[in-house]
Amino acid sequence: MKWWVSMPKIELHAHLNGSIRDSTLLELARVLGEKGVIVFSDVEHVIMKNDRSLGEVFKLFDLIHILTTDHKTVTRITKEVVEDFASENVAYLELRTTPKKNDSIGMSKHSYMEAVVEGLRAVSAVDIDFGPHKFNTQDSLNSIAMNDACDGTKRKKIYVRLLLSIDRRETTEAAIETVKLALEMRDLGVVGIDLSGNPVVGEWKTFLPALKFAQKQGLYITLHCGEVPNCQEVQPMLDFLPQRIGHAIFFEEEEWRQLKTSKIPVEICLTSNIKTESISSIDIHHFVDLYNDKHPLVLCTDDAGVFSTSLSNEYKLASTAFGLGKREMFELARNGIECIFAGDEVKQDLVETFDSAAKKLN
Ligand code: 5GP
Repeated sequence: MKWWVSMPKIELHAHLNGSIRDSTLLELARVLGEKGVIVFSDVEHVIMKNDRSLGEVFKLFDLIHILTTDHKTVTRITKEVVEDFASENVAYLELRTTPKKNDSIGMSKHSYMEAVVEGLRAVSAVDIDFGPHKFNTQDSLNSIAMNDACDGTKRKKIYVRLLLSIDRRETTEAAIETVKLALEMRDLGVVGIDLSGNPVVGEWKTFLPALKFAQKQGLYITLHCGEVPNCQEVQPMLDFLPQRIGHAIFFEEEEWRQLKTSKIPVEICLTSNIKTESISSIDIHHFVDLYNDKHPLVLCTDDAGVFSTSLSNEYKLASTAFGLGKREMFELARNGIECIFAGDEVKQDLVETFDSAAKKLN
């Protein structure tokens, strides 16, 4: 097994509906095609297309949501996505999703999230800790480093925490509803709020009341920030002091300075940035500058399904593109522990997982 697959990893920026297997999407499309809801042949090539602009990505999400938004399917994709990350030795996953309401099928934001939690409960291929459901002590004592798990004798384990996304198409009231839901579901593994959705839609001031409320209530916050040029947003977002930001592409000099001073960790999504042409070539990716400055950063997939990638692939890509060796990549992954939205006990367990894996690094 290649080192970028076998080493333990931390995934902090993964959208549920962007991380679905192509095979599952095709199967769902076929079923809806047979029911006459969609025309399968029209949809098939859209799902299988490889490179998409950022605008096309959001059109694809509208299609994916037609395919996935019923309770049973939400449960299924959640289970599959978690098992897929665990299979490539992701030791800790923060999975984000936008709670959806669809009156025609009796879906509320709450019941959508219950279906997600049901998916976590349904995970069977690995041991999962998502807050209420923890590995038992014996599991922990017996557990071994993630990269030993491939010998077939020990089960892998994965921590999963949930972030609720506010979609930039939403109103202030809808965003506040999402924050209230996150607070209600704290005992079910929800730890924070994400602001995402098409970056050319909506305004910062619409979401600010909800985000301030979330911040006051002690929820962790991560923002998609600087995904497109928008000088009116980046600075207020940085002033807000979220616990992390995603992407950080279109920053002015002063904004880079502010980011670096604030030490807000950045979720870096290399393949996503390249495929959507947000960055023209990997050689000029801001990863290099942030890495050289020892700024806290974490490699992430964004949408492993939509961009046909995996977290292992992101590590391999960074290693090749930026000339970083196995040990440097291992340290990068391990430093991600400091950026997670979970408590000291989880962090300590992850440190032990990495320590144990480090002994076998040669
Ligand atoms: P979901 O929240 O439905 O589980 O995951 C898909 C949603 O995540 C999309 O509809 C979109 O709102 C958000 N999303 C996924 N990828 C990106 C991205 O690269 N940028 C932004 N801004 N939002 C994204």
